[in-house]
Amino acid sequence: MDYKNEGNCPHGHGAAMPQAEGGVRPPRILAWETTGACNLKCKHCRGSSTEDVSEGELSTAEAKKLLDDIRETGTPIIILSGGEPLMREDIFEIARYGTDLGFRMTLATNGVPVTEEVAHKIKDAGIQRVSISLDGREKTHDAFRMIPNCFNDSMKGIENLKKAGVEFQINTTVSKFNLHEIEDVHNFTKEIGAAAHHFFFLVPTGRGAELTEFEITPEEYEVALELLHDLSRKTDLQIRPTCAPHYFRILRQRAKKEGIEITPKTHGLDAMTKGCLGGISFGFISRNGDVNPCGYLPVSAGNVRQQSFKDIWENAKVFNDLRNYDAYKGKCGACEYKTVCGGCRARAYSETGDYMEEEPLCSYYPEGY
Ligand code: SF4
Ligand code: SF4
Repeated sequence: MDYKNEGNCPHGHGAAMPQAEGGVRPPRILAWETTGACNLKCKHCRGSSTEDVSEGELSTAEAKKLLDDIRETGTPIIILSGGEPLMREDIFEIARYGTDLGFRMTLATNGVPVTEEVAHKIKDAGIQRVSISLDGREKTHDAFRMIPNCFNDSMKGIENLKKAGVEFQINTTVSKFNLHEIEDVHNFTKEIGAAAHHFFFLVPTGRGAELTEFEITPEEYEVALELLHDLSRKTDLQIRPTCAPHYFRILRQRAKKEGIEITPKTHGLDAMTKGCLGGISFGFISRNGDVNPCGYLPVSAGNVRQQSFKDIWENAKVFNDLRNYDAYKGKCGACEYKTVCGGCRARAYSETGDYMEEEPLCSYYPEGY
C-alpha cells in the first residue's frame, strides 16, 4: 500500500487502514513533540509552548533509542513536531537517523525559522514533507497567532522550501475566527503550490482550553464539514479534515443519498481510512517520552524512558480501550457509523473525563437512539 500521500497529520487522520474492526495494528503515523520550546505564542497551541528549551525533553541519545524502539513495530511515518522542532539543535541529526532507519520523516513547523540554509538542511536530512500552519489570509493569521508579520515570515519559509525542492502542505485550524475564509484559504494554498491542505478542528486542550469562544458549535461544525466535502470534489488538491471524525459519517450519508458506492476510485484515500485513529494506528509521543493516543488526549499510555515503545503500543490499557468500538458509550456507542467515525475521544475526555464517552460536537443522532 502506498502511504506517500498521507501527509503528516499530527492527529491520526490520513493513515490508510481497513475500516471496522479494532485489535492491535502496527502504528502508521506517530507524531513526536520533540520539544516544548517555540518561537511563537499561538492562541490555539496544544502544548502551551514557551521560548525556553523545555525541561525533561528526550536527549539526542534517547531520541535515537526511541526511533530504534519504534522500528521494532514497523516503519510508520514520523512527524517531528513541537513546540517548534527547529528550535532543537539536534533536529537534523535525529531526522537523518530516522531516514536511515527507513522511516518517512516529516516535520511540522510554523515556517518562521525556515531560512534558505535551514531549508537545505531539511532536504539533506531526508525529510520528505514539511507542514506549515496558515490559519487564514494575512490579517486573520496574524491575529490568531498574536504575532505581527507572522504570516509573511511563514511565507518566506515556504518560498525557501520551494527553492530547496522540499514538498510542503498547509495546515489550517478551523475556528469561529476563520470559518468564513475556508474556501479562500484553500484557493490560496493551491496557488502557492502545496502538496495537500489539512483542516484541523479546534480541540479545547492546552492553551486552546481558554479558547471556548472560538470553538464552533455542532451545527457550524456540520456546515463546515459539508463545505469541505463539496470542496474536496471541486479541487484537485488533497483535502483532509482532521480531528473532525464525523466527516467520514457525512461522506457515507452523502454517498448513500446519491447512490454512490465508496471505493478508492470514487473517494481516494477517504475510502480506506476512518475518523479518529488515535491509539489505533496513530500515536503521540510527548516531549518527555509519554505516549498518548494523540496530542489532545492527555492520558498517558506509558513512558518510553521506562518501557519499550512496542510494549506500550501493544499493551497499554488506553490504547486497547480505544480499539474496542463495542465499549464506546452514549450515542457514539449506539452509532452505526462508529467504526468509520468513532467521535473525537479527546473532546469526550475534555467534556466528561471519560474518553469512551460520546463526542460532544456531533449533531447526529443514531437511528433509534
Ligand atoms: S481523539 Fe480527537 S483530537 Fe485526538 S486524534 Fe482523535 S479526533 Fe483527533
Ligand atoms: S454519534 Fe459519534 S460515532 Fe456517530 S457520527 Fe456522531 S461522533 Fe461519530
